[in-house]
Amino acid sequence: MREAPARTGTVHLVGAGPGDPDLLTLRAARLVMNAKLIVHDGLVDPAILAMARPGCRMVSVAKQRARHSLPQDAINALLVREALAGNDVVRLKGGDPFVFGRGGEELEACRAAGITVEVVPGISAALGAAAAAQLPLTHRDEASVVSFVAGQCKGLSGQNWAGLAGVGRTLVIYMGVATAEAIAEKLIADGLAPDMPVAVIENACRPQMRVLRGPLAGLGALMTREKVRSPAVIVVGTVAARGSEAALTALAEAAA
Ligand code: SAH
Repeated sequence: MREAPARTGTVHLVGAGPGDPDLLTLRAARLVMNAKLIVHDGLVDPAILAMARPGCRMVSVAKQRARHSLPQDAINALLVREALAGNDVVRLKGGDPFVFGRGGEELEACRAAGITVEVVPGISAALGAAAAAQLPLTHRDEASVVSFVAGQCKGLSGQNWAGLAGVGRTLVIYMGVATAEAIAEKLIADGLAPDMPVAVIENACRPQMRVLRGPLAGLGALMTREKVRSPAVIVVGTVAARGSEAALTALAEAAA
């Protein structure tokens, strides 16, 4: 008979930020570098996984072409099983664990099993994208409210976004690539001006980042024409017209 493990492991729910390893918190970097077991999503950049030491066990719960991603219940069960077996788990998530990251569900599952959880915040995509595109989400002259919404969710048309976008407000849409056209129509139906500026930031904080701009009414066409792929965030509001192309070009040149 196997002896019961001497201790229960801790689950660290860690935000890995939008991509660039330099944007990890020190706490996240230390945890990744010392981990024996990392359970990660597809959005976590390979450069971050490469920081783990040799021999670290890596479990991907990401969506793969032929295989579906692990359902959330199975991920919860995996974390609980490993921790109860005495293993510390670094659960790495893109961006921040508590912004569209299902961190809350994993936290609850672990707590229900009596497992200690640490939550380490990360730079969420909206913040990373805004910084990389040099596009302020708030601006004293232009926007004093900023909201984050999920563009891909149950019953998009039933979501009440009224008041979240418009003059003086910035709306950042996550997971909106596939539904961009419907989102633009919905916002215009809610009263937004068709010429309200939008910016699409694809692969923010990664070498292949793109920043595309246009009017709200042309959002669907812009996505199709430019073949925008996930991950991307869509920023709606007058601040979306800001951001210096010259600065971006200079950055790209400096990185080359
Ligand atoms: N927890 C994550 C969000 C996960 S939902 C966070 O806080 O950032 C996945 C969505 O995040 C993507 O569909 C996309 O909208 C956004 N996203 C994640 N990484 C991104 C990146 N590098 N550039 C642009 N958008 C990104």
